[in-house]
This record gives sequence, structure tokens and C-alpha cells, in this order.
Amino acid sequence: MQKIESVPEMRSATAQFKQAGKTVALVPTSGALHEGHAALIALAKTRADVVVVSVFANPLAFGASENLARYPRTPESDARLCAELGADVVFLPSTEEMFPRGFSTFVTEEAVSKPLCGISRPSHFRGVTTGMAKLLNVVQPAVVVMGQRDAQQAAVVRKMIKDLEFGVEVVVAPIVRESDGLAVTVRNRELTSGQRLEALAIHGALLKAKEMVAQGVRSTDRIIAEATHLLGERRRIRVIYISMVDPLTMEQMKEMVPGATLLAIAAWIDEIRVIDNVML
Ligand code: AMP
Repeated sequence: MQKIESVPEMRSATAQFKQAGKTVALVPTSGALHEGHAALIALAKTRADVVVVSVFANPLAFGASENLARYPRTPESDARLCAELGADVVFLPSTEEMFPRGFSTFVTEEAVSKPLCGISRPSHFRGVTTGMAKLLNVVQPAVVVMGQRDAQQAAVVRKMIKDLEFGVEVVVAPIVRESDGLAVTVRNRELTSGQRLEALAIHGALLKAKEMVAQGVRSTDRIIAEATHLLGERRRIRVIYISMVDPLTMEQMKEMVPGATLLAIAAWIDEIRVIDNVML
């Protein structure tokens, strides 16, 4: 496995893959890799000849109040895990490599990125699309593999790729959960046992919604009211949003369409921000 830290070196690896007629799958990550990322890498391996994993905590995607400096960084173990999982390249650019002094060009998607997390994190998706556009240009993959845990992020990137004709397929991998149902994230390690129980209530609300749909409920109002009630019983949970949306556009739905409606939840558990979702 190649470990690459500079943009020019990554570009020349990209050129070599092209010359050899090899297709590339890109797995973009913020690092501190875990089972969720591992599943994306495994899926990427089935979709292209070469798998490039990028490890980059994108400062443009972090808001002023979100502490980028505290984001866990484990580049050595990330590289080791990538090698173990059979990735071909781990690309670990520094912030200077990605956004050197004087960087002044941004990519903004202005519809899918607006609702849900776009409200509480107003500059987040602009950072995501700008960083992703640059990565796509440097790595030139045929496929980019992303996780359903960040459903809105995947939808925003898919829209940017379509609007700007990047010609890259977006493949979305299912959410990897711990045995108790908690979606795997880097933050899970920070949760106390009490906070973890509260976080599990979010998964519980998603499961309850699934059950209601199985029983024939179609009113988004009723499902949202039930989830709001369940989370309202939790002392440490502060709901940011509970929304039922079209999974491609992220627009609110009044009546749910089974198989084509996303229930997305974001909440604070004390000072930890949690997102989760389920397709209903
Ligand atoms: P992050 O490193 O948190 O920026 O995430 C990088 C990619 O991994 C994103 O596409 C995430 O959606 C995906 N990912 C992270 N955790 C999970 C998970 N538990 N299940 C599925 N995908 C995940």
C-alpha cells in the first residue's frame, strides 16, 4: 500500500492508475478510522481496481464553534488499518496541501444542503463540497463510496457531482452499528455509559418509526410526534431536528412513501452532537 501525503504525488499516482487502465474508488474520511469506515473500504474494493482512502479532517467543514483541534487524529493506525483492509493508497494531505494560504475558491450546493444539518451548521456543506471537489480532481475516481450515516452529506455530494458533471458514481454503504444498535462514530468513545443510554434512545425512536410504518401509519406528523415524545422523555437529549424527507432532495414530506422516505434525527446529548437516520 502506498502512503501519500502531497497533492502532486497523489496526482502522479492517479496518472499511473489511468495509464494502466485501472479504475479507482475513493473513500473519503476524516480519519480515526473505525468499523464504519472499514465497511466502506470493503465495499470500495468490490467496485474498482484500486481503492484510495483519504484521511483528512476538513477544516472548512467545521464551524467556528466546532473544535477541529479536538478531532481525534490517529494517522499511523489509520494507515495500518487501510493496509490490513487491502486499500491500495492512503492519502493523508495536510491542511496546507489541501487549502494552502490564499485558497479562495468554493463550491456551494444551494438546495439539498439547506435543510436539516444545513440550518444548524450553515457553513458545513460548503466545506464538504469544496473539499470533495478538490479530492475528486486530485484522485479522479470512477466511484466515491460514502456512508448512509451521513445521508445528507452523500445527497449533497451526489447533487454536486451531477450539477457539475464530475462523472463519478456515488455508492452509499449502509450504516454500521454496534451490537446494541448505536451507529458507529469517532465520538462513541467519548460517551459515558449514561450518555450512551441516551444515544440509544435515538436508535429506539428510529425503530419505533419503522414499527409504526409496518403497522400501516403513513402520516409523517404522527411518526415525528412519536419520536419527539420518546426523545422528550430523555433528560440529557436536546433535539435539533426530527424530519421525514425525500432521501435525494432532503425536502420535507407530508405523507410518507414506504421505501422512499428518510427519517433523520439530530440531537445533542449533553455537548455531543449525534445524527442518525433510517429509511422508512
Ligand atoms: P467521517 O470520517 O466521519 O467524516 O466519515 C467518513 C465516511 O464514513 C462518511 O461517508 C461517513 O458516512 C462514513 N461512515 C462513518 N461512520 C459510519 C457508519 N457507522 N456506518 C456507515 N458509514 C459510516
